[in-house]
Amino acid sequence: MADTVIVGGGAIGCATAVYLLRDEPSRDVVVLEPDPTYAKAATPRASGGVRQLFSCPENIALSRYTLEVTKTDTWHRNGYLFIASVADTDALRANFETQLAMDVRAEWLEPAHLAERFPLLATDDLGAAVLSADDGWLDPHTFLMRLRSEAESLGARFLRDRAVDFAFKGRLVSEVVLASGDRLPAEHVVNAAGCWSPELAARAGVPIPVEPMRRYEHFVEADGDFGALPFVKDPAGLALRPEGAGLSVGLVDFGHPGGFDETIDSSYFDKVVWPALAHRVPALDRARLRSTTVGHYDQNRLDGNAIIGNWPQARENFYLASGFSGHGLMHAPGVGRALSELIAYGEFRTIDLGRLGYGRIVKNQPYAERGIR
Ligand SMILES: Cc1cc2nc3c(=O)[nH]c(=O)nc-3n(C[C@H](O)[C@H](O)[C@H](O)COP(=O)(O)OP(=O)(O)OC[C@H]3O[C@@H](n4cnc5c(N)ncnc54)[C@H](O)[C@@H]3O)c2cc1C
Repeated sequence: MADTVIVGGGAIGCATAVYLLRDEPSRDVVVLEPDPTYAKAATPRASGGVRQLFSCPENIALSRYTLEVTKTDTWHRNGYLFIASVADTDALRANFETQLAMDVRAEWLEPAHLAERFPLLATDDLGAAVLSADDGWLDPHTFLMRLRSEAESLGARFLRDRAVDFAFKGRLVSEVVLASGDRLPAEHVVNAAGCWSPELAARAGVPIPVEPMRRYEHFVEADGDFGALPFVKDPAGLALRPEGAGLSVGLVDFGHPGGFDETIDSSYFDKVVWPALAHRVPALDRARLRSTTVGHYDQNRLDGNAIIGNWPQARENFYLASGFSGHGLMHAPGVGRALSELIAYGEFRTIDLGRLGYGRIVKNQPYAERGIR
């Protein structure tokens, strides 16, 4: 019998395997991952942003942990900049106070100061901005491969198979049923299957309000030097950062009905992204769209925050790590550590993620980021 079967070998599954094995090297940890190329997984499609600019202390602490422990030569520590409309300035201020109270090296910038620091940005319509200088982005594929190879070197067994169902003994999941027909007896099961986790969670009797949400990443090239820009989040929902000879840009379409959708609607860039981009970075008025990639957020429709942990009253040994809603890469190491603590000791020992647990789903009580997503 495996000690722990982790369903899904993306950033969250690999990080969980790493921390379980660092804690207890003799554990038998199996990671089920049907696709070693990660063709549809979210992790390699991410923008790679890591920020401490959240309102929920748990999210700040999880990002901080990644910034502290992730050693990679792909870091770009250009900082992370949240710019807010006049209407959002109070929310930005409240979040800023929380960030300062948690010792984030955050800086409040009035529009005039912002214009001096980042002359590429149009600031006329803004109320204020907050810069977190220690934040930035990294290469998501490298990040994933490092987690995976550490998990493998610590002894995790990666099986190229897919979980399709579970068997139960009372309130416990006793086996993971695989697409190959094999069955894996397990003491603990972690559902880290990203956008595919809701169906598995439902099969385990632990339904979650998570669904795939299409998210494009656009690469634009332009004349000029954009390399010193931080990762910028704009009131229009635009996210941008330097990439090669231009920028990597995303703008979540919260109006999309949800579900897997691999189509690339080229009019979305022209109609939605381009006007927002040209407004915020006027020097991009002659930028060229080079490519668009499509991925999916595992979007938590209740509150946009992750769901982490088990359901003690109903399925003690079935653990969720899903619903990351666009934050899963930056939170993977801390989530892996937290889950390994929960599995090993029945409690969170370093970052208390109790408020991100399944209890709020059962009670239908959102625990959302305040003000700015
Ligand atoms: C365009 C885009 C930009 C993003 N930008 C950022 C960002 O800047 N910062 C950030 O922190 N996050 C970002 N995210 C979100 C982040 O990528 C995800 O939250 C994170 O990668 C989730 O990791 P995961 O391991 O849960 O899921 P995934 O990486 O999707 O891994 C899940 C794995 O489960 C496997 N699987 C599926 N079904 C089964 C099954 N039945 N049995 C076994 N295995 C199965 C899949 O093959 C997959 O490899 C972005 C996402 C997208 C799409």
